[in-house]
Amino acid sequence: MMTSANRAFLLLVKKDVIVMLHGYLAYIVALLIASVISLLMALFLFIRRTKTGAVVLAYLMLSTSVYSLGYAFELACSTLSGMLFWSKFQYLGISIIPALWIIMVIQMTGKDRWLTRPVLIAIFIIPFTTFILHLTDSYHHLYYSSVSVNLNSPFPLLVFTKGPWYWVHVAFTNLSILCGNIMLLDMWRRSAPSYSRQAAIILIASLAPWAGLIIYQTGRSPWDLDLTPFTFTCTGLITAWGLFQYRLFDLIPVARDKVFDSMRDGVLVVDTSDRIVDFNPTAQLIVKKLSKKDIGRPAKEVLADYPELLKQLSVNNNEQNNLQTSQGGVSYYYNSRVTPVMNDKNKLIGKTIVLNDITQQVLLHEKLSKLATLDALTNIFNRRHFLDLSNDELCHAKQSGTSISLILMDLDHFKQINDTYGHKAGDIVITTVTAVCSNNLRVTDLFGRYGGEEFVAFLPETSSEEAFQIAERLRQNIAVTRIELDDGSITVTASFGVASADKAGDIELDELLKNADEALYEAKEAGRNCVRRRFLN
Ligand code: GH3
Ligand code: MG
Ligand code: MG
Repeated sequence: MMTSANRAFLLLVKKDVIVMLHGYLAYIVALLIASVISLLMALFLFIRRTKTGAVVLAYLMLSTSVYSLGYAFELACSTLSGMLFWSKFQYLGISIIPALWIIMVIQMTGKDRWLTRPVLIAIFIIPFTTFILHLTDSYHHLYYSSVSVNLNSPFPLLVFTKGPWYWVHVAFTNLSILCGNIMLLDMWRRSAPSYSRQAAIILIASLAPWAGLIIYQTGRSPWDLDLTPFTFTCTGLITAWGLFQYRLFDLIPVARDKVFDSMRDGVLVVDTSDRIVDFNPTAQLIVKKLSKKDIGRPAKEVLADYPELLKQLSVNNNEQNNLQTSQGGVSYYYNSRVTPVMNDKNKLIGKTIVLNDITQQVLLHEKLSKLATLDALTNIFNRRHFLDLSNDELCHAKQSGTSISLILMDLDHFKQINDTYGHKAGDIVITTVTAVCSNNLRVTDLFGRYGGEEFVAFLPETSSEEAFQIAERLRQNIAVTRIELDDGSITVTASFGVASADKAGDIELDELLKNADEALYEAKEAGRNCVRRRFLN
């Protein structure tokens, strides 16, 4: 006979069992829901795979889905063989999760270049071994030392004693999650303020697996149930939210495109077979007739008018070149540079041609060198530049042992012209005389303004007699030239001193100048408008 107390006790026990069974069923349903959520998330990520890390996160969610689904079915089974089958199914996901996790973090933190083939192989060695050892455990018991079904709990549970490789898998999983945490922490610390919230979300998501892992691996979960499928689902969801919410990884390619399009430098991109792949609007302004139709065409055809660029492209080094183009009669100058483009695995995938506009620098340089070498009024060499060039010529003459001559010329009674017609008229006289002389000298002769109304000419390979003839010709042409001034036309005369050496030998420029000056003085003394000469040897 059952006492009322006994009945009450039995009812209480039964009630506990029912509560437990409800919990158990709820757990299985929750796992199935987690599996479906992870699967949908994986699909969504595959569709939106343009995001950095999205594809790997999709695989991660797929693995989590497999894990949750397998675990739900394992719990629903009552036989050991059924449980073992679903356990093996779960390991399709479980073994690979740490590897996918670390790859995703590497990508998200912008360290894709680390992911070389050897690194990828190294990352997948342990997951692969885990999967194989788990699959074949009944032959070696390296993963589980023993497995059995616990029929004493309110529902049948797979129980196992952990073998050596189980701990390798646990260590690898924990280490991957930890490495990911550290890398994400570093990214968060270094991220710009506008992205630090996003980085923080992904960092927090990365910490979630610890909760499940610690509870499960320390054996504190109810009935030893594994909570990790849920924590991984949460991690995946929060990471995806972080990924899409703040659009960090969307912004980078868009910003790059904007920069590319708005650059002041012209940029052309070619592939490894030197076909045009892309260019920016500035490149279109520089390279004539460049249009979208040229994409895919060989650079050899598109850049046919720019042989220097093609040469640079074929040489394959980083050297720079200058390129000159003209648009509407105006010259533009560019500095061209060809740079190889490598992919993450350091393999050449193309080249960029960057055309940097240096027109302003070139014009400034031209202006400065003109200022430094030419006389402002007459546009012929100034004294210093004339002396530099003459010294070079003298060196050549010394080496070749040829004759040289130098003519010094001074306008006669120039002060009177200034006094009578004014300084401006004096300037006109100086420029007119310059033109007469320039027209009567040879291209090989150097001609410069020596001082106020004094001019100098260095005549290479010219004997004294020839130089004398030239000076005479200059003298006569100046004397007959009518110079138009506001107050009517005038003529002027000039006196000449010529110094010559049949052999340049050891003669210095100073000596030539000194002798020419003395000859000029003689010419002035002799009544002006005449030529006097000196021989140095
Ligand atoms: P001489 O026949 O002896 O050479 O007499 P000169 O009057 O020409 O004397 P000198 O050569 O000494 O005079 C040079 C003058 O040339 C002095 C200066 O006023 C004038 N002069 C020098 N440079 C310039 C210039 O750039 N423009 C003008 N208008 N006059 C100049
Ligand atoms: Mg003078
Ligand atoms: Mg004079």
